[in-house]
Amino acid sequence: MVDIEGNVARLREEIQEAALRSGRSPDAVTFVAATKTQDAESIRRAIAAGVDACGENRVQELTAKRAQGAYTGAPLHFIGHLQKNKVSQVVGAADLIQSVDSMELAELIARRAERLQIVQPILLEVNIGGEAAKSGVAPQTLAELVDYCATLPALQVQGLMAIPPVAVDGAENRKYFAAMAQLFVDIKAKKYDNVSMSVLSMGMSGDFISAILEGSNMVRLGTGIFGPRG
Ligand SMILES: *Cc1c(COP(=O)(O)O)cnc(C)c1O
Repeated sequence: MVDIEGNVARLREEIQEAALRSGRSPDAVTFVAATKTQDAESIRRAIAAGVDACGENRVQELTAKRAQGAYTGAPLHFIGHLQKNKVSQVVGAADLIQSVDSMELAELIARRAERLQIVQPILLEVNIGGEAAKSGVAPQTLAELVDYCATLPALQVQGLMAIPPVAVDGAENRKYFAAMAQLFVDIKAKKYDNVSMSVLSMGMSGDFISAILEGSNMVRLGTGIFGPRG
């Protein structure tokens, strides 16, 4: 059996150490468990072991496991590609939607949030490696998307998210993480009304140390906690 408790404790230490090395407080970085394919019991164990939030990729899994009470006690994030016809199932159910990458999607989320009379926190996902097959807004189009989201009061843009290209060595991704940190600082400096730019979500099991050293304050870890996905 995978030692979920031991893995969470060790990863937490590594996160804290990296935060300190980057000149920040040890608890400056939010630890999100990437729970895709994991069952409710494993997720409960990760929460009990102290992760700060859970992140799901697929709407169907999120809905089913939420009904089982899998996420009780931790905020729930949506971190996967969000199809437009699934928006209504995620708005309000997820405390943070990390993967907004188009005006069309932003508008649909805002419309749904308005109907529920809530303000939906979101992150904008950036395709920082410029990969054709990946979701995320192109870095050159990001400013335009932020401008648009700022006009929608039912959305609160809390920051940026990125999944850089798969690298053999986590350090290879540092240039992408650094580019994200720069975009984050640039947008924050514009001081939009409903754009807080407090969250920079980047770093997975293979590269979270590099991500934190470049300024990430939210990492999303799956295999490091739960072992390889079957
Ligand atoms: C699966 C996933 C992660 C975690 O990846 P690991 O390599 O298992 O740590 C992080 N973010 C997203 C968006 C994911 O889909």
